[in-house]
Amino acid sequence: MAEHTVSGVDIELEHVSKNYPGQRAAAVEDVSMHIPAGEIVIFVGPSGCGKTTTMKMINRLIEPSEGTITIGGQDNRSLDGDQLRRTIGYAIQQAGLFPHMTVAQNIAVVPGLLGWSKQRVAARVEEMLDLVGLDPGEFHDRYPRRLSGGQQQRVGVARALAADPPVLLMDEPFGAVDPITRGNLQDELMRLQAELRKTIVFVTHDFDEAVKLGDRIAVLGPKSTILQYDTPDAILANPATDTVAGFVGAGASLKQLTLMRVRDVQLTQEAITARCDETCAEIRRQLDERGRTYALVLDERDRPQRWVHIRDLPAARTLAEAGKPITDWVTTQSTLRDALEAILADGGSAVVTKEQGRYAGTIDIHTVMDTISDLRGGQEPRRRTGDPA
Ligand code: ADP
Ligand code: MG
Repeated sequence: MAEHTVSGVDIELEHVSKNYPGQRAAAVEDVSMHIPAGEIVIFVGPSGCGKTTTMKMINRLIEPSEGTITIGGQDNRSLDGDQLRRTIGYAIQQAGLFPHMTVAQNIAVVPGLLGWSKQRVAARVEEMLDLVGLDPGEFHDRYPRRLSGGQQQRVGVARALAADPPVLLMDEPFGAVDPITRGNLQDELMRLQAELRKTIVFVTHDFDEAVKLGDRIAVLGPKSTILQYDTPDAILANPATDTVAGFVGAGASLKQLTLMRVRDVQLTQEAITARCDETCAEIRRQLDERGRTYALVLDERDRPQRWVHIRDLPAARTLAEAGKPITDWVTTQSTLRDALEAILADGGSAVVTKEQGRYAGTIDIHTVMDTISDLRGGQEPRRRTGDPA
């Protein structure tokens, strides 16, 4: 696959401070940092430390009291505030969708303000819905209240990206959804970013989320003081201060699993697979022949559907209804941490899917345990080759 070109631009904060009127102490004091083009930089820190204030000074929803912010080498005061904000995507918790507008109208807001033609806006809306994994036919004309929390966040991201801004600011965008949906949205964001290579500033108070998503993490203390600004691996391996160490918390090697993806380890390929339209008798024969008890049923597009035990087969009429449906799976993009959770929930191994939800293999507890012990030993995790059994 071709390297995707970076579409983001550098952001530079120089001695930026914010004093809110009527407050004695500064909310943000003398922050300087370089945010490289095309990276995801995470601001992580406790509630009230000034993350949102710092972020909002980038798109000037809040005006700095002191200091300079440049975006792509340009002072962010060289445009008027509204114009500036049309060049910077912004996604927040609860998605912040306009309730009286349809999904399509929400996504069309900034392109409309920029004066795009009707046809161009309409095409872009479809493209964005597709990009964030929502079926245009189904969601185009819906109102936000008729969407789940996760769907609203997807529309929020689609809206933020609609005008193809080089910079995307995301303020705890996945904070209000359940953990499973949050994991999916994180995976989607990483997939998008691999294609888009925007400069993304992402605020969270969840260190695990920071480790999973960040190319770099800025751990912030009071008044947005930068306690450490480095890659996730470097922060996990060497927390700069006791406060950072406290934030990193216990179980650092478990957290390191968040740095590794399912695609980085060798999947097991030994499951016996069957198509929905094969006969139960045929699968029984195969299981018998190979001395196995379980088969994985795939649909016509190779997507995993069910686990079928050999005991289920005599009573079943078709494979489409035999055994039990697969409820939890991971993708090749998922972190090993997510995989571990799925494995523990499923008892021993988890199904892995690749593009278009197609079956890629399974991942088992031994693979994850080997990886942990390699991480403990400080070695490069070994890639498991082949599988005996
Ligand atoms: P975070 O996003 O890290 O939770 P904020 O940037 O929202 O932190 O807030 C930083 C500090 O600034 C807090 O003490 C907060 O009470 C204060 N603050 C935030 N917004 C305002 C405002 N509009 N007026 C006065 N004080 C504010
Ligand atoms: Mg905040």
